[in-house]
Amino acid sequence: MRVRNLGILAHVDAGKTTLTERVLFTTGATYKQGEVHDGTTVTDSDPQERSRGITIFAAAVSADWNGHRLNLIDTPGHVDFSDEVERSLRVLDGAVVVFDGVAGVEPQTESVWRAADRYGVPRIVFVNKLDRPGASLDHVVASIVDRLGAAPLVVQVPIGREDGFAGVVDLVGMRRLTWPDGVLRSEPADDAEAWAARGALEEAVAERHAAALEELGDMSETTLRAAIRDLTVAGDAVPVLCGSAYRDKGVEPLLDAVVDYLPAPGGDPGAPPAALVFKVHTARAGRVTYARIYDGTIRKGDVLWDATARRTERVARVLRLHADRHTDLDVAVAGDIVGLAGVKAARAGATLSGRDHPVLLEAPRTAEPLVSVA
Ligand code: GDP
Repeated sequence: MRVRNLGILAHVDAGKTTLTERVLFTTGATYKQGEVHDGTTVTDSDPQERSRGITIFAAAVSADWNGHRLNLIDTPGHVDFSDEVERSLRVLDGAVVVFDGVAGVEPQTESVWRAADRYGVPRIVFVNKLDRPGASLDHVVASIVDRLGAAPLVVQVPIGREDGFAGVVDLVGMRRLTWPDGVLRSEPADDAEAWAARGALEEAVAERHAAALEELGDMSETTLRAAIRDLTVAGDAVPVLCGSAYRDKGVEPLLDAVVDYLPAPGGDPGAPPAALVFKVHTARAGRVTYARIYDGTIRKGDVLWDATARRTERVARVLRLHADRHTDLDVAVAGDIVGLAGVKAARAGATLSGRDHPVLLEAPRTAEPLVSVA
């Protein structure tokens, strides 16, 4: 299964919670209230949060989309350079940055953006709340250029404005995407305005991408998508998508963009294990240690070496993290993010490695972390 480890970053109130809920609902990761969950669950949902329909998760949650597993890592709302924020940025490979379609770049978005820059996190932008009075994609795109100095690639344009906001034109696939009665409808886009916007996108891509430049004026969908991916992964450009989380418009194409443009994790499943603990959470059912595996394989029953505290730890269970429950895995491999039960003392920031191959992971944000022997 191919994996994307990503975070959703935003200024408070931009719509991160709403968008996260829609993502989990759209991917089928959350169940409607009242459904029966299996008995082996490790849940920690506050009943009050649940009754409000808000999905909370302690550290990370997995969802499947189009043959890919998306591991969504919780990133605290306030980027105050706390250890927790730094650690969450270290374990993700890409991010969706949510902007309020009226407010554009806000001070907190700026600090989130700079932090993602420091960690070299490739990102895509979702301009939310396009249904609101005064919302403007153009205004937000201009503020991304002016205030963040980034190179936005507008890959979608809105259909309708404010209360009449009905959907988006996907300029890469040249499709009109609308949500009549809440269900995605996709039709070919063939009007002059859409083609003009497509031309502008091709030019913006060709300006930065040599291979794409050769096809300028006649760029295939495949070439364009691949070029946008290259630029995004290299941090040379940022695809901009738009919609309204609240009205459930734009979520499926955003998930497609995550798969298309954000990078897959690296790592060697055959190497000795090396995993970074990024959060520890004590739930009713016990202590869950959240870890990103950078190399190797972790199995239920493994004895690992905490290279930070210099002691051994035994993995009683390896857990796949769902929104409302955890399920047991026999094995997890490099690139994945899992919960470990049975690990007694490892702290956030610790490296868990093979007993015979002790390593300390440092600055392990990239696919190939800097590794030094402990
Ligand atoms: P967060 O603070 O970033 O997690 O933002 P929330 O998801 O809690 O949203 C903040 C407020 O904006 C809530 O009142 C939402 O209902 C509202 N909101 C979120 N998305 C949209 C949207 O697409 N359109 C409109 N009009 N309101 C939205």
